[in-house]
Amino acid sequence: MTSDYRRGEGRGWRRTGGDDGSVGEGIQGASAAMGGSGWIVRLASLLALGLVLSSAEASLGDADPRYRTCVKECQTTGIIGENTISHCQNKENDTSVGGSWYNQEQIYMQWKQLACTTDCRYFCMMQREGERQSLGLTPVKYHGKWPFLRISVFQLFIPLVLVDTSVNSDILRQEPLSAALSAINLLMHFAGWLSFYLLVKYKLPLRPQTKRTYYEYTSLWHIYAILSMNAWFWSSIFHTRDIDLTEKLDYSSAVALLGYSLILSLLRAFNVKDEATRVMFAAPILAFVTTHILYLNFYELDYGWNMKVCVVMAVVQLLTWAVWAGVTRHPSRLKIWTVVFGGALAMLLELYDFPPYMGYADAHSLWHASTIPLTYLWWSFIKDDAKFRTSTLIKKAK
Ligand SMILES: [Zn+2]
Repeated sequence: MTSDYRRGEGRGWRRTGGDDGSVGEGIQGASAAMGGSGWIVRLASLLALGLVLSSAEASLGDADPRYRTCVKECQTTGIIGENTISHCQNKENDTSVGGSWYNQEQIYMQWKQLACTTDCRYFCMMQREGERQSLGLTPVKYHGKWPFLRISVFQLFIPLVLVDTSVNSDILRQEPLSAALSAINLLMHFAGWLSFYLLVKYKLPLRPQTKRTYYEYTSLWHIYAILSMNAWFWSSIFHTRDIDLTEKLDYSSAVALLGYSLILSLLRAFNVKDEATRVMFAAPILAFVTTHILYLNFYELDYGWNMKVCVVMAVVQLLTWAVWAGVTRHPSRLKIWTVVFGGALAMLLELYDFPPYMGYADAHSLWHASTIPLTYLWWSFIKDDAKFRTSTLIKKAK
């Protein structure tokens, strides 16, 4: 029933000013990343410029009154153009189901309502984009994202918990490339973590008395790995099925990772080994990040503000790593600088957003692709750092 909406209309879109929707959730890659000295300043100012430009150019897809009216009508009637959205109909019969919140029927109703909203937004977006295209207008973003063509192959990747069996495959969903790339990023982090674990646990010597690693940051990197994998997990779920819940989980996980990696960069750069001092460093950032996550989830998912928070946290840690690598003449400083430079370039890609090419590949998916090699290099630096610290400490002990 919907094939004519899905074909054709997504093609041939040109570049427009981006709104800043997806930046925050995608920045996790750069969080791991860090650069040198003179060009750092230039890079930082370029990033700041990008930030200003992208927030000034915010587009208005979902602010358009015609789009809003379309969604509202679709939600009440369940009809849009020649299409019927089955989950929007028969509400009266179904809502009579009482009982507690965790009642199965209630949960089913909530999913049905979500599916209705998702479908209405999709069809209204495609309708508006079709109208805009015939008027020679460029595409705009809706709810912080570019209009994407749906693909049903990717329902294979959706965990069973998120599949509403009553919903037809049409609502399963928009960004297959970003979803697949997020999954690859997750695997890269897992591989990096595993090889780091094997290194510190079996290859490097342990402290004779405590049997703990010489490297003082082992447990901090373990937590980093878990938060990274968590963030990429929710990123791939979000790109597979974009609903309010998955969006919030994705944004929250990305912010948590960014905040944590900022703390980690400061602890490593200032060589903080003592627990009490670590807590002192972490507390203010932890408090801020927690407040920010609560704000996003329970007050307002403000994309513009979230992007600013994320960019600032990312830039500060990139600079921290880069400067630290230079000042300490770390043996792996080239790796650090490459990751910082690559991470900053990738961040620019995200800030200068462009619409999907052929309806599938956009700046956001390229951003997810670019973090794959950076993740590999970053874990390689982490392992180098563990080897470097261990040998320094052993030499000192002798
Ligand atoms: Zn993403």
